[in-house]
Amino acid sequence: MATPESLPVMPVDEVQAVAEALRAAGVRLVVGAVIDSAGVSRGKQVPVDRAGALHRSGVGASSTWAVFCADNGIAMTPRIGAVGDLRLRADLSAAVDVGGGLAWAPAEVFTQDGEPSPVCWRGFLRRQQAAAEALGLEVLAAGEVEFSLLPARPDGTSGPWVAYGLGPALDHQEFLLDLEAEFDRAQLGLEQLHAEYGGRQFEFSLSPADPLRAVDKLALARFLLGRTARRHGLAVSLSPKPFVDGVGNGAHLHMSFLRDGKPLLSAGDGPHGITPEGGSLIAGIVEQLPELTGLLAPSVLSSLRLQPGMWSGAYACWGLENREAAVRLCAATQGNPHGANIEIKCVDPTANPYIAAGAILAAALDGLRAGKPLPPEVTVAPADLTEEESKQLGVVQLPGTHAEALDALERSAAAQRHLGEELLEALVAVRRHEQAEYGDADIATTVDRLRFAWSV
Ligand code: GLU
Ligand code: MG
Repeated sequence: MATPESLPVMPVDEVQAVAEALRAAGVRLVVGAVIDSAGVSRGKQVPVDRAGALHRSGVGASSTWAVFCADNGIAMTPRIGAVGDLRLRADLSAAVDVGGGLAWAPAEVFTQDGEPSPVCWRGFLRRQQAAAEALGLEVLAAGEVEFSLLPARPDGTSGPWVAYGLGPALDHQEFLLDLEAEFDRAQLGLEQLHAEYGGRQFEFSLSPADPLRAVDKLALARFLLGRTARRHGLAVSLSPKPFVDGVGNGAHLHMSFLRDGKPLLSAGDGPHGITPEGGSLIAGIVEQLPELTGLLAPSVLSSLRLQPGMWSGAYACWGLENREAAVRLCAATQGNPHGANIEIKCVDPTANPYIAAGAILAAALDGLRAGKPLPPEVTVAPADLTEEESKQLGVVQLPGTHAEALDALERSAAAQRHLGEELLEALVAVRRHEQAEYGDADIATTVDRLRFAWSV
């Protein structure tokens, strides 16, 4: 079914039926949830009997919801200030009973007149999904989230961290079992849950779905992660640089594309079976990554992670299983039952995933419309290329500082086109706030102060 350009209004009797079913299942409060311009999860709760209101008219939110910052600062702009009001409308078709008397539903931002607000994050991805469908494409997306699991009290430490170790998994066995049960109840399609390379770092990855659904699953997963950690006296950091030393937390997004049910990243004549259209989609992404980095790795801490040698994909290029390329091709092999897909590695958890997925998709569609050819593949760590080789292959490093990423984003005609002026203004404003507040501070202090800024 085609994705509507705007969240449809369900008939009253259908809404009532949903609310009644939730109530019968023991739900008392429905959470209308967003991830905002600063990448922070926020929302409002209503009693289950008011689920209809949460969906149809929405609940009030000041205009400044568009510019709330990770530290709760408010980055007002000439256009967005103390006057005005928005509505958060929950998509009840995506509501999930998450147990404990709560249901969770993703929300979209509307004006008081019932028009989609230009600053709506989920609405942005919705429009990109609809645009892809209008071009005859089916898009699948899937997310991963790395996070640092920290003891709530300094004395609750476990043994030394072993990258991908079974020891850390055993140390946190009860937590992991509980998280699996939560994800299972919410039908998030957990694929993997493992101790990652960085100290105290775990990762989960979720199964593919259409982009809106895939990002809804990510948003709900973050909510359930926070709830489960609390229950175990633990705290979750989604910071891209949870500690000054060591690797950061990424939030890689996977995407694949089909036309008439046929994959565009495999079974073609190009390298590794990439079809001409698949090549154009990749080309559009690779070309626009430098100017979109301010959306994908957008926080004042992001550039500390997005550096060579961190497996964070700090270079605008692609390569088969290349973990230092921003676009890693995972080819269709026996070992990859989901089929060929690309993993966008430069994304971190401080990005709004609706915006990140929407921007990547918009860039891919630009490449497709322009019929761009697949850029040359990079088969080594890009940092090992000579200057001459980089030039020949057209490889550039993604902006290495927060200021460079924001400047490039602000100058980007593509970002203006994809997001519209107002949403771009809000997204830039909250990151400029971070820059002003923390840009000149000592790194260790900022890492400390923002460690939990993006956690639920
Ligand atoms: N932690 C790395 C990052 O910052 C990713 C490691 C991996 O390849 O999974 O994205
Ligand atoms: Mg990982």
